[in-house]
Amino acid sequence: MPSRHPHFPSVKVFDHPLIQHKLTRLRDRATGSSEFRALLNEIAGLMTFEICRELTVEPHTVETPVATAHGVRLRDKVTVVPILRAGLAMTDGILGLFPEARVGHIGIYRDEASSRPVEYYRKLPKDVTAGPVFLVDPMLATGGSAVKAIEDLKAIGCTRIQLICLVAAPEGVRAVATAHPDAMVSVAAIDERLNEHHYIVPGLGDAGDRIFGTQ
Ligand code: URA
Repeated sequence: MPSRHPHFPSVKVFDHPLIQHKLTRLRDRATGSSEFRALLNEIAGLMTFEICRELTVEPHTVETPVATAHGVRLRDKVTVVPILRAGLAMTDGILGLFPEARVGHIGIYRDEASSRPVEYYRKLPKDVTAGPVFLVDPMLATGGSAVKAIEDLKAIGCTRIQLICLVAAPEGVRAVATAHPDAMVSVAAIDERLNEHHYIVPGLGDAGDRIFGTQ
């Protein structure tokens, strides 16, 4: 079971040894893009497995070759929403568990003049409000993009929002948990701080660049 943040009840830290082992390889600057992408997806999948504990099921009966079995099936229509672009690298790991999930996209940039996050792209299933939204972004730094994405999802009626990040700064955790205490936040680690360039320390560097081999 993940542990609850001591000050923010909506925040869970996934301190499972296997996740921490993979996260350490992910942080290593010697890890190249292809392994980096694989690890991001693996960790996203492991976290999602536990998060799905809270999904609702309904009774479902099937015929086995031997007799009738009274089982269940998932009732929730899940939508995975990566925040562009780094969130894309967590999507396949989640879809591996959940092939039925729909995938939406949100793109957000920081306006230089106002320093405010601005949404530049949004494509979501029409009935996105019908079920939980797994909003994914590997890095929760200042929290600006996540706060804005959650605000925009709420504005169209989403009520069950689950933010899934790998590495968070305390500043980002505080920003999201304060602005949206009703959104659940799952992270694999909360690091020490942000540096003057808004990079997480020790973090793992620029996730987008490491995923896509850009710089
Ligand atoms: N985004 C990243 O990719 N890395 C950080 O450290 C902070 C934001």
